[in-house]
Amino acid sequence: MAWNIVIAGGGFAGATVARTLEAMLPRQSARLSLVNDVNFLLYTPLLPEAAAGTLEPRHVVTPLRDILKRANLRIAVVDAHDPAARTVGITKHTGESETIPYDHLVLAEGSISRFLPIPGLSEHAVGFKSLADAIYLRNQVIETLETANATEDPDLRDQLLTYVFVGGGYAGLEALAELQDFAADAMEHYPRARLHGMRWVLVEAADRVLPEIDQGLADYAVKELRGRGIDIKHGTTLEEVTATSASISTGESLPTRTVVWTAGVVPHPGLRKLHVPLDERGKVKVDSCLRVEGMENVWALGDCASVPDPGGGVCPPTAQHAVRQAPVVAANIASAIGIGADSPIEFEYRGGAAFVNLGRYKAVGRIGNHNFRGFPAWWMARTYHMSQIPGPSRKIRAAVDWTVSLPFSRDLSELGSIGRPGVLDPETYERGGSHRPAG
Ligand SMILES: Cc1cc2nc3c(=O)[nH]c(=O)nc-3n(C[C@H](O)[C@H](O)[C@H](O)COP(=O)(O)OP(=O)(O)OC[C@H]3O[C@@H](n4cnc5c(N)ncnc54)[C@H](O)[C@@H]3O)c2cc1C
Repeated sequence: MAWNIVIAGGGFAGATVARTLEAMLPRQSARLSLVNDVNFLLYTPLLPEAAAGTLEPRHVVTPLRDILKRANLRIAVVDAHDPAARTVGITKHTGESETIPYDHLVLAEGSISRFLPIPGLSEHAVGFKSLADAIYLRNQVIETLETANATEDPDLRDQLLTYVFVGGGYAGLEALAELQDFAADAMEHYPRARLHGMRWVLVEAADRVLPEIDQGLADYAVKELRGRGIDIKHGTTLEEVTATSASISTGESLPTRTVVWTAGVVPHPGLRKLHVPLDERGKVKVDSCLRVEGMENVWALGDCASVPDPGGGVCPPTAQHAVRQAPVVAANIASAIGIGADSPIEFEYRGGAAFVNLGRYKAVGRIGNHNFRGFPAWWMARTYHMSQIPGPSRKIRAAVDWTVSLPFSRDLSELGSIGRPGVLDPETYERGGSHRPAG
Protein backbone atom coordinates (compact mmCIF):
# COMPACT_ATOMS: atom_id res chain seq x y z
CA MET A 1 0.00 0.00 0.00
CA ALA A 2 1.25 3.54 -0.81
CA TRP A 3 0.54 6.28 1.73
CA ASN A 4 -0.76 9.63 0.49
CA ILE A 5 1.21 12.52 1.96
CA VAL A 6 0.02 16.01 1.09
CA ILE A 7 2.08 19.12 1.88
CA ALA A 8 0.32 22.50 1.79
CA GLY A 9 2.86 25.27 1.07
CA GLY A 10 6.17 25.04 -0.80
CA GLY A 11 8.37 27.57 1.03
CA PHE A 12 11.39 26.73 3.17
CA ALA A 13 9.35 24.44 5.42
CA GLY A 14 7.18 22.59 2.88
CA ALA A 15 9.87 22.14 0.22
CA THR A 16 12.34 20.81 2.80
CA VAL A 17 9.77 18.34 4.17
CA ALA A 18 9.13 17.13 0.61
CA ARG A 19 12.85 16.73 -0.16
CA THR A 20 13.52 14.92 3.10
CA LEU A 21 10.59 12.53 2.61
CA GLU A 22 11.73 11.84 -0.96
CA ALA A 23 15.06 10.73 0.45
CA MET A 24 13.62 8.77 3.41
CA LEU A 25 10.70 6.91 1.92
CA PRO A 26 11.01 4.16 -0.68
CA ARG A 27 9.26 5.19 -3.90
CA GLN A 28 6.56 2.50 -3.68
CA SER A 29 5.70 3.31 -0.06
CA ALA A 30 4.37 6.86 -0.49
CA ARG A 31 2.77 9.26 -2.95
CA LEU A 32 3.96 12.79 -2.19
CA SER A 33 2.02 15.87 -3.30
CA LEU A 34 3.22 19.41 -2.71
CA VAL A 35 0.58 22.10 -3.24
CA ASN A 36 1.86 25.65 -3.62
CA ASP A 37 0.29 28.74 -5.12
CA VAL A 38 3.40 29.65 -7.15
CA ASN A 39 5.93 27.39 -8.89
CA PHE A 40 9.04 28.68 -7.11
CA LEU A 41 10.64 29.00 -3.70
CA LEU A 42 11.66 32.55 -2.80
CA TYR A 43 14.96 32.62 -0.90
CA THR A 44 13.94 35.59 1.30
CA PRO A 45 17.27 36.12 3.12
CA LEU A 46 18.65 37.35 -0.24
CA LEU A 47 15.62 39.49 -1.16
CA PRO A 48 17.28 42.70 0.16
CA GLU A 49 20.21 42.03 -2.19
CA ALA A 50 17.80 41.62 -5.10
CA ALA A 51 16.31 45.00 -4.13
CA ALA A 52 19.77 46.56 -4.05
CA GLY A 53 20.69 45.01 -7.39
CA THR A 54 23.65 42.99 -6.05
CA LEU A 55 21.77 39.87 -7.15
CA GLU A 56 19.59 39.39 -10.21
CA PRO A 57 15.99 39.04 -8.92
CA ARG A 58 15.53 35.72 -10.76
CA HIS A 59 18.56 34.32 -8.94
CA VAL A 60 16.87 34.50 -5.53
CA VAL A 61 14.09 32.14 -6.56
CA THR A 62 14.39 28.44 -7.37
CA PRO A 63 11.75 26.63 -9.42
CA LEU A 64 10.11 23.98 -7.22
CA ARG A 65 10.33 21.55 -10.13
CA ASP A 66 14.14 21.79 -9.87
CA ILE A 67 14.01 21.09 -6.13
CA LEU A 68 11.60 18.16 -6.14
CA LYS A 69 12.69 14.76 -7.43
CA ARG A 70 9.48 12.75 -7.38
CA ALA A 71 6.88 14.68 -5.39
CA ASN A 72 3.93 15.76 -7.50
CA LEU A 73 3.84 19.58 -7.62
CA ARG A 74 0.31 20.99 -7.77
CA ILE A 75 0.07 24.73 -8.48
CA ALA A 76 -3.08 25.56 -6.55
CA VAL A 77 -4.40 26.97 -3.30
CA VAL A 78 -5.41 24.64 -0.47
CA ASP A 79 -8.73 26.11 0.63
CA ALA A 80 -10.72 23.33 2.28
CA HIS A 81 -10.10 20.52 4.73
CA ASP A 82 -12.27 17.70 6.00
CA PRO A 83 -10.36 16.05 8.87
CA ALA A 84 -12.96 13.26 9.29
CA ALA A 85 -12.81 12.28 5.60
CA ARG A 86 -9.03 12.98 5.49
CA THR A 87 -9.25 15.17 2.42
CA VAL A 88 -8.17 18.67 1.41
CA GLY A 89 -9.76 20.79 -1.27
CA ILE A 90 -7.58 22.69 -3.74
CA THR A 91 -8.45 25.37 -6.27
CA LYS A 92 -6.25 25.70 -9.35
CA HIS A 93 -5.52 28.98 -11.15
CA THR A 94 -8.02 27.95 -13.81
CA GLY A 95 -10.74 28.08 -11.15
CA GLU A 96 -11.18 24.27 -11.16
CA SER A 97 -11.48 22.56 -7.76
CA GLU A 98 -10.33 19.14 -6.71
CA THR A 99 -10.48 17.05 -3.56
CA ILE A 100 -7.29 15.20 -2.61
CA PRO A 101 -7.24 12.38 -0.05
CA TYR A 102 -4.40 12.17 2.46
CA ASP A 103 -3.06 9.80 5.07
CA HIS A 104 -0.76 12.50 6.43
CA LEU A 105 -1.18 16.24 5.91
CA VAL A 106 1.60 18.80 6.44
CA LEU A 107 0.66 22.47 6.86
CA ALA A 108 3.47 24.83 5.84
CA GLU A 109 1.61 27.88 4.57
CA GLY A 110 3.99 30.48 5.98
CA SER A 111 3.00 34.03 6.79
CA ILE A 112 1.95 37.35 5.30
CA SER A 113 2.80 40.92 6.34
CA ARG A 114 1.05 42.07 9.50
CA PHE A 115 -1.36 44.88 8.68
CA LEU A 116 -2.64 47.57 11.05
CA PRO A 117 -5.48 50.04 10.37
CA ILE A 118 -3.20 53.09 10.17
CA PRO A 119 -4.66 55.93 8.06
CA GLY A 120 -3.14 55.95 4.58
CA LEU A 121 -1.07 52.79 5.10
CA SER A 122 -2.67 50.59 2.44
CA GLU A 123 -2.78 53.46 -0.10
CA HIS A 124 0.72 54.90 0.31
CA ALA A 125 3.04 52.29 1.85
CA VAL A 126 4.58 49.14 0.34
CA GLY A 127 5.57 45.89 2.02
CA PHE A 128 8.78 43.92 1.64
CA LYS A 129 7.91 40.25 1.33
CA SER A 130 7.85 39.41 -2.36
CA LEU A 131 10.07 39.69 -5.41
CA ALA A 132 7.67 42.31 -6.80
CA ASP A 133 8.18 44.41 -3.64
CA ALA A 134 11.97 44.19 -4.04
CA ILE A 135 11.92 45.18 -7.70
CA TYR A 136 9.49 48.02 -7.00
CA LEU A 137 11.65 49.45 -4.21
CA ARG A 138 14.82 49.39 -6.26
CA ASN A 139 13.06 51.30 -9.04
CA GLN A 140 11.54 53.70 -6.51
CA VAL A 141 14.96 54.57 -5.06
CA ILE A 142 16.45 55.17 -8.52
CA GLU A 143 13.43 57.20 -9.61
CA THR A 144 13.52 59.38 -6.49
CA LEU A 145 17.26 60.04 -6.99
CA GLU A 146 16.68 60.96 -10.65
CA THR A 147 13.79 63.31 -9.83
CA ALA A 148 15.55 64.88 -6.83
CA ASN A 149 18.53 65.62 -9.05
CA ALA A 150 16.31 67.24 -11.67
CA THR A 151 14.00 69.39 -9.54
CA GLU A 152 14.65 72.95 -8.33
CA ASP A 153 12.14 72.59 -5.47
CA PRO A 154 13.86 71.94 -2.08
CA ASP A 155 10.63 70.76 -0.42
CA LEU A 156 10.07 68.20 -3.14
CA ARG A 157 13.70 67.10 -2.76
CA ASP A 158 13.09 66.57 0.96
CA GLN A 159 10.17 64.27 0.19
CA LEU A 160 12.06 62.39 -2.50
CA LEU A 161 15.25 61.87 -0.49
CA THR A 162 13.64 60.72 2.78
CA TYR A 163 13.03 56.99 3.08
CA VAL A 164 11.01 55.64 6.01
CA PHE A 165 10.99 51.96 7.03
CA VAL A 166 8.55 50.82 9.70
CA GLY A 167 9.45 47.66 11.64
CA GLY A 168 12.92 46.49 12.60
CA GLY A 169 12.75 42.72 12.03
CA TYR A 170 15.06 40.93 9.59
CA ALA A 171 13.05 42.07 6.57
CA GLY A 172 12.90 45.77 7.45
CA LEU A 173 16.37 46.23 8.82
CA GLU A 174 18.16 44.34 6.05
CA ALA A 175 16.08 45.96 3.31
CA LEU A 176 16.81 49.43 4.70
CA ALA A 177 20.52 48.69 5.12
CA GLU A 178 20.94 47.27 1.60
CA LEU A 179 18.96 50.04 -0.10
CA GLN A 180 20.67 52.83 1.83
CA ASP A 181 24.05 51.36 0.89
CA PHE A 182 22.93 51.17 -2.74
CA ALA A 183 21.65 54.77 -2.71
CA ALA A 184 24.82 56.04 -1.01
CA ASP A 185 26.94 54.49 -3.80
CA ALA A 186 24.55 55.68 -6.51
CA MET A 187 24.68 59.27 -5.19
CA GLU A 188 28.00 59.95 -6.94
CA HIS A 189 25.98 60.10 -10.19
CA TYR A 190 23.50 62.64 -8.77
CA PRO A 191 25.52 65.70 -7.68
CA ARG A 192 22.53 67.96 -6.94
CA ALA A 193 20.75 65.30 -4.92
CA ARG A 194 24.01 64.57 -3.10
CA LEU A 195 24.39 68.21 -2.10
CA HIS A 196 20.90 68.11 -0.57
CA GLY A 197 21.59 64.84 1.29
CA MET A 198 19.40 61.82 2.01
CA ARG A 199 17.61 60.79 5.18
CA TRP A 200 16.93 57.14 6.07
CA VAL A 201 14.72 56.47 9.08
CA LEU A 202 13.78 53.21 10.79
CA VAL A 203 10.72 53.43 13.04
CA GLU A 204 10.35 50.56 15.55
CA ALA A 205 7.60 50.29 18.18
CA ALA A 206 9.60 48.04 20.53
CA ASP A 207 12.70 49.07 22.46
CA ARG A 208 14.95 46.90 20.29
CA VAL A 209 15.27 45.69 16.69
CA LEU A 210 15.77 42.17 15.30
CA PRO A 211 13.67 40.19 17.80
CA GLU A 212 14.60 37.04 15.82
CA ILE A 213 18.21 37.11 17.10
CA ASP A 214 20.00 37.77 20.37
CA GLN A 215 20.13 41.29 21.77
CA GLY A 216 23.94 41.62 21.60
CA LEU A 217 24.08 41.08 17.85
CA ALA A 218 21.03 43.31 17.31
CA ASP A 219 22.73 46.14 19.26
CA TYR A 220 25.86 45.62 17.18
CA ALA A 221 23.85 45.99 13.94
CA VAL A 222 22.19 49.18 15.26
CA LYS A 223 25.59 50.68 16.12
CA GLU A 224 26.84 49.98 12.59
CA LEU A 225 23.77 51.53 10.98
CA ARG A 226 23.78 54.62 13.20
CA GLY A 227 27.44 55.03 12.26
CA ARG A 228 26.24 55.33 8.63
CA GLY A 229 23.85 58.16 9.58
CA ILE A 230 20.69 56.04 9.63
CA ASP A 231 18.16 57.36 12.14
CA ILE A 232 16.84 54.41 14.19
CA LYS A 233 13.90 55.37 16.40
CA HIS A 234 12.97 52.81 19.06
CA GLY A 235 9.67 52.99 20.96
CA THR A 236 8.10 54.93 18.09
CA THR A 237 5.06 54.10 15.99
CA LEU A 238 3.71 55.18 12.63
CA GLU A 239 0.51 57.21 13.00
CA GLU A 240 -0.47 58.26 9.49
CA VAL A 241 0.83 58.10 5.92
CA THR A 242 -0.01 60.43 3.03
CA ALA A 243 1.40 60.58 -0.50
CA THR A 244 4.06 63.03 0.73
CA SER A 245 4.54 62.40 4.47
CA ALA A 246 4.70 59.94 7.37
CA SER A 247 3.56 61.10 10.82
CA ILE A 248 5.12 59.28 13.76
CA SER A 249 4.31 59.09 17.49
CA THR A 250 7.04 61.57 18.45
CA GLY A 251 4.82 64.22 16.83
CA GLU A 252 7.16 64.56 13.84
CA SER A 253 5.85 64.62 10.28
CA LEU A 254 8.53 63.24 7.98
CA PRO A 255 8.34 64.54 4.40
CA THR A 256 8.60 61.37 2.29
CA ARG A 257 7.33 59.60 -0.77
CA THR A 258 8.69 56.19 0.28
CA VAL A 259 7.22 54.35 3.26
CA VAL A 260 8.08 50.66 3.59
CA TRP A 261 5.93 48.66 5.99
CA THR A 262 7.80 45.71 7.49
CA ALA A 263 6.17 45.54 10.91
CA GLY A 264 6.21 41.79 11.36
CA VAL A 265 4.25 38.90 9.96
CA VAL A 266 1.07 37.01 10.79
CA PRO A 267 0.28 33.41 9.88
CA HIS A 268 -1.31 32.91 6.47
CA PRO A 269 -5.03 33.76 6.84
CA GLY A 270 -5.95 30.76 4.63
CA LEU A 271 -5.30 28.53 7.67
CA ARG A 272 -8.64 29.65 9.12
CA LYS A 273 -10.43 27.56 6.51
CA LEU A 274 -8.69 24.35 7.47
CA HIS A 275 -10.38 23.14 10.69
CA VAL A 276 -7.19 22.99 12.73
CA PRO A 277 -6.68 24.49 16.22
CA LEU A 278 -5.17 27.98 16.09
CA ASP A 279 -3.65 30.04 18.91
CA GLU A 280 -4.58 33.68 19.61
CA ARG A 281 -2.20 34.88 16.84
CA GLY A 282 -3.71 32.52 14.27
CA LYS A 283 -0.80 30.03 14.32
CA VAL A 284 -1.49 26.30 14.16
CA LYS A 285 -1.04 24.73 17.62
CA VAL A 286 1.46 21.86 17.57
CA ASP A 287 3.29 19.82 20.20
CA SER A 288 7.07 19.47 20.41
CA CYS A 289 6.93 16.70 17.77
CA LEU A 290 5.16 19.20 15.45
CA ARG A 291 1.94 17.19 15.43
CA VAL A 292 -1.17 19.39 15.34
CA GLU A 293 -2.92 19.31 18.71
CA GLY A 294 -5.64 16.66 18.85
CA MET A 295 -4.93 15.38 15.32
CA GLU A 296 -3.14 12.10 14.77
CA ASN A 297 -2.01 12.62 11.18
CA VAL A 298 -1.76 16.39 10.63
CA TRP A 299 1.54 18.23 11.12
CA ALA A 300 2.46 21.91 10.95
CA LEU A 301 5.74 23.85 10.90
CA GLY A 302 7.45 27.05 9.81
CA ASP A 303 5.99 30.55 10.13
CA CYS A 304 2.40 29.24 10.23
CA ALA A 305 2.90 27.05 13.32
CA SER A 306 3.24 27.82 17.01
CA VAL A 307 6.21 25.53 17.63
CA PRO A 308 7.45 25.23 21.23
CA ASP A 309 10.99 26.60 21.37
CA PRO A 310 13.32 24.30 23.34
CA GLY A 311 14.82 27.49 24.80
CA GLY A 312 11.39 28.69 26.04
CA GLY A 313 8.40 30.38 24.39
CA VAL A 314 7.65 29.70 20.74
CA CYS A 315 10.05 29.63 17.80
CA PRO A 316 10.53 32.92 15.92
CA PRO A 317 9.40 33.03 12.28
CA THR A 318 12.73 32.41 10.58
CA ALA A 319 13.86 30.28 7.68
CA GLN A 320 16.55 28.83 9.95
CA HIS A 321 13.85 27.38 12.19
CA ALA A 322 11.63 26.26 9.30
CA VAL A 323 14.38 24.21 7.61
CA ARG A 324 15.32 22.57 10.92
CA GLN A 325 11.73 21.71 11.78
CA ALA A 326 11.25 20.02 8.40
CA PRO A 327 13.42 16.91 9.05
CA VAL A 328 11.57 16.43 12.36
CA VAL A 329 8.19 16.37 10.58
CA ALA A 330 9.59 14.08 7.87
CA ALA A 331 11.07 11.65 10.43
CA ASN A 332 7.84 11.60 12.43
CA ILE A 333 5.69 10.89 9.37
CA ALA A 334 8.13 8.12 8.37
CA SER A 335 7.94 6.71 11.90
CA ALA A 336 4.13 6.84 11.84
CA ILE A 337 4.05 4.73 8.67
CA GLY A 338 6.56 2.25 10.06
CA ILE A 339 9.85 3.51 8.59
CA GLY A 340 12.81 4.62 10.73
CA ALA A 341 12.45 5.37 14.46
CA ASP A 342 9.77 3.59 16.52
CA SER A 343 8.60 6.73 18.25
CA PRO A 344 8.33 10.38 17.22
CA ILE A 345 11.25 12.76 17.82
CA GLU A 346 11.04 16.23 19.31
CA PHE A 347 12.20 19.53 17.81
CA GLU A 348 15.36 20.48 19.69
CA TYR A 349 17.15 23.21 17.70
CA ARG A 350 18.23 26.08 19.93
CA GLY A 351 19.59 28.54 17.39
CA GLY A 352 23.21 28.91 16.41
CA ALA A 353 25.15 31.35 14.29
CA ALA A 354 23.31 34.44 13.05
CA PHE A 355 24.20 37.07 10.46
CA VAL A 356 22.62 40.38 9.50
CA ASN A 357 23.37 41.79 6.04
CA LEU A 358 23.96 45.52 6.05
CA GLY A 359 24.87 46.24 2.44
CA ARG A 360 27.30 45.29 -0.30
CA TYR A 361 30.21 43.50 1.42
CA LYS A 362 28.92 44.66 4.82
CA ALA A 363 27.36 42.48 7.53
CA VAL A 364 27.54 41.70 11.21
CA GLY A 365 27.41 38.19 12.61
CA ARG A 366 27.92 36.08 15.66
CA ILE A 367 29.21 32.53 15.96
CA GLY A 368 29.28 31.34 19.56
CA ASN A 369 30.67 34.23 21.58
CA HIS A 370 32.52 35.80 18.65
CA ASN A 371 31.24 38.86 16.80
CA PHE A 372 32.24 39.57 13.22
CA ARG A 373 31.72 42.66 11.11
CA GLY A 374 32.45 44.09 7.67
CA PHE A 375 33.70 41.96 4.79
CA PRO A 376 34.58 38.83 6.87
CA ALA A 377 31.02 38.71 8.27
CA TRP A 378 29.58 39.30 4.78
CA TRP A 379 31.75 36.52 3.33
CA MET A 380 30.76 34.06 6.10
CA ALA A 381 27.09 34.86 5.55
CA ARG A 382 27.53 34.32 1.78
CA THR A 383 29.18 30.96 2.42
CA TYR A 384 26.22 29.96 4.58
CA HIS A 385 23.67 31.12 1.99
CA MET A 386 25.57 29.32 -0.78
CA SER A 387 25.13 26.09 1.18
CA GLN A 388 21.42 26.78 1.70
CA ILE A 389 20.18 28.12 -1.67
CA PRO A 390 18.37 25.15 -3.18
CA GLY A 391 19.72 23.79 -6.47
CA PRO A 392 23.25 23.94 -7.92
CA SER A 393 22.27 26.27 -10.77
CA ARG A 394 21.00 28.99 -8.39
CA LYS A 395 24.10 28.63 -6.18
CA ILE A 396 26.34 29.21 -9.20
CA ARG A 397 24.26 32.12 -10.50
CA ALA A 398 24.34 33.86 -7.10
CA ALA A 399 28.12 33.32 -6.79
CA VAL A 400 28.64 34.77 -10.29
CA ASP A 401 26.48 37.82 -9.43
CA TRP A 402 28.51 38.50 -6.28
CA THR A 403 31.82 38.05 -8.11
CA VAL A 404 30.88 40.09 -11.18
CA SER A 405 29.62 43.00 -9.07
CA LEU A 406 32.99 43.25 -7.26
CA PRO A 407 34.88 45.35 -9.84
CA PHE A 408 31.90 47.27 -11.24
CA SER A 409 29.86 50.18 -9.93
CA ARG A 410 26.15 49.86 -9.20
CA ASP A 411 23.68 49.39 -12.04
CA LEU A 412 21.32 52.38 -12.10
CA SER A 413 18.86 51.33 -14.80
CA GLU A 414 15.33 52.08 -13.65
CA LEU A 415 13.17 49.27 -14.97
CA GLY A 416 9.78 50.15 -13.53
CA SER A 417 8.20 49.34 -16.88
CA ILE A 418 9.04 45.63 -16.55
CA GLY A 419 5.84 43.61 -16.83
CA ARG A 420 4.03 46.54 -18.49
CA PRO A 421 4.12 46.05 -22.24
CA GLY A 422 4.51 49.05 -24.54
CA VAL A 423 1.47 50.63 -26.19
CA LEU A 424 0.72 50.40 -29.90
CA ASP A 425 -1.31 53.60 -30.09
CA PRO A 426 0.87 56.59 -31.28
CA GLU A 427 -1.34 59.12 -29.48
CA THR A 428 -0.14 57.79 -26.15
CA TYR A 429 3.44 58.63 -27.19
CA GLU A 430 2.31 62.16 -28.05
CA ARG A 431 0.99 62.49 -24.50
CA GLY A 432 4.43 61.47 -23.20
CA GLY A 433 3.66 57.83 -22.34
CA SER A 434 4.96 54.64 -23.89
CA HIS A 435 3.71 51.85 -21.62
CA ARG A 436 0.38 50.49 -20.55
CA PRO A 437 -0.52 51.64 -17.05
CA ALA A 438 0.45 49.25 -14.24
CA GLY A 439 -2.20 46.72 -13.21
C1 LIG B 1 12.81 40.17 3.38
C2 LIG B 1 12.92 39.00 4.31
C3 LIG B 1 14.17 38.63 4.79
C4 LIG B 1 14.29 37.53 5.63
N1 LIG B 1 15.55 37.18 6.05
C5 LIG B 1 15.70 36.07 6.81
C6 LIG B 1 17.01 35.65 7.19
O1 LIG B 1 18.00 36.29 6.85
N2 LIG B 1 17.11 34.52 7.93
C7 LIG B 1 16.01 33.78 8.31
O2 LIG B 1 16.17 32.74 8.96
N3 LIG B 1 14.75 34.17 7.97
C8 LIG B 1 14.57 35.28 7.24
N4 LIG B 1 13.30 35.68 6.87
C9 LIG B 1 12.13 34.91 7.35
C10 LIG B 1 11.84 33.70 6.42
O3 LIG B 1 11.59 34.14 5.11
C11 LIG B 1 10.61 32.94 6.88
O4 LIG B 1 10.75 32.60 8.23
C12 LIG B 1 10.42 31.68 6.03
O5 LIG B 1 10.10 32.04 4.72
C13 LIG B 1 9.33 30.77 6.59
O6 LIG B 1 9.24 29.64 5.80
P1 LIG B 1 7.83 28.92 5.56
O7 LIG B 1 8.08 27.76 4.66
O8 LIG B 1 7.17 28.69 6.86
O9 LIG B 1 6.94 29.99 4.81
P2 LIG B 1 7.12 30.62 3.36
O10 LIG B 1 8.54 30.63 2.97
O11 LIG B 1 6.37 31.90 3.41
O12 LIG B 1 6.36 29.61 2.40
C14 LIG B 1 4.98 29.38 2.45
C15 LIG B 1 4.50 29.01 1.05
O13 LIG B 1 3.17 28.53 1.11
C16 LIG B 1 2.40 29.17 0.10
N5 LIG B 1 0.99 29.13 0.55
C17 LIG B 1 0.42 29.82 1.55
N6 LIG B 1 -0.86 29.47 1.68
C18 LIG B 1 -1.12 28.53 0.74
C19 LIG B 1 -2.27 27.78 0.39
N7 LIG B 1 -3.43 27.90 1.05
N8 LIG B 1 -2.17 26.91 -0.63
C20 LIG B 1 -1.00 26.75 -1.30
N9 LIG B 1 0.12 27.44 -1.01
C21 LIG B 1 0.07 28.31 0.01
C22 LIG B 1 3.02 30.56 0.03
O14 LIG B 1 2.71 31.23 -1.16
C23 LIG B 1 4.51 30.20 0.12
O15 LIG B 1 5.01 29.81 -1.14
C24 LIG B 1 13.15 36.79 6.04
C25 LIG B 1 11.88 37.18 5.55
C26 LIG B 1 11.76 38.28 4.72
C27 LIG B 1 10.39 38.67 4.20
